[in-house]
Amino acid sequence: MTDYSIGLDLGGTNLRAAAIDRDGKLLHLVTGHTQYSEGRDAIMGDMVEAIASLRDTQGPAGLAGIGVVVPGFISLREGVIRNCNNIPSLEDFPMRDELRERLNAPVILENDANAAALGEQWIGAGRGVRDLVLLTLGTGVGGGIISDGKLIRGFLGMGGELGHITVIPNGNPCGCGNRGCLEKHASATAISAMARLLGYGNVTAKEVYDRAVAGDERAIQIFTCMGEALGIALATLVNAFNSQLYLLSGGVIGAWDFFAPAMIAEARRRSFTFRTTDTRVERAKLGGEAGLYGAAYLPWAT
Ligand SMILES: [Zn+2]
Repeated sequence: MTDYSIGLDLGGTNLRAAAIDRDGKLLHLVTGHTQYSEGRDAIMGDMVEAIASLRDTQGPAGLAGIGVVVPGFISLREGVIRNCNNIPSLEDFPMRDELRERLNAPVILENDANAAALGEQWIGAGRGVRDLVLLTLGTGVGGGIISDGKLIRGFLGMGGELGHITVIPNGNPCGCGNRGCLEKHASATAISAMARLLGYGNVTAKEVYDRAVAGDERAIQIFTCMGEALGIALATLVNAFNSQLYLLSGGVIGAWDFFAPAMIAEARRRSFTFRTTDTRVERAKLGGEAGLYGAAYLPWAT
């Protein structure tokens, strides 16, 4: 009998769930077929079906637990998603209890970036590191903090929302109500927005990157701005947590060579600890798989 766990990642455009063993070996993967626009009932049905089918395939005896990862602010204590930009129909919905009831099994709910940090620590770039911070640079910026081997969740479970750290006083407005949040200056969306301001029209972060590669000075400057914003955030995180390793993930880390010099310079300038210790800033390894692996690791992590 294999000891395994089931992880489900409600990310991107459709859900993925997997049975994964204690060593991180993927035993079985299923993909949901519901579009999130079909609404809450359809999404919940899809989630229950995916998890139940994995449990049936692997057998209930070896199941260590079920971890479910969702985007947005989550109140872990209540098992409720508080703010879910991607899937508004899930907002304020008691997802954890609903899943528990329909599956007749305990379910652990976690924020996507927190889970990604766990995944990276388990089998990715953070293997063997007990203190690390992960920043996921995508449509927004997510964060996960692991201190002394444990996720920092805070008293409600809403800790680690690093995308909403202020990096520019009175910078760009953010959906959270603040201005100058990290995710408004260092996400893929922010890259596109800066390009629009410079008259490039509607371009993706990848297109801005391609222009930078071709030597376009203004495109290069966009990544410098992004690097500075990241460096300011990193300095704050280094000062607060003294983690050994800071990982960045997301498609835009492909532009590492363009934004990293400004990022490191800014972090050095603003953090004594960064300047004077062996603090590493590196690319995460698992890419889009981190959340799924982190979800599966949840039953073993808590
Ligand atoms: Zn914000």
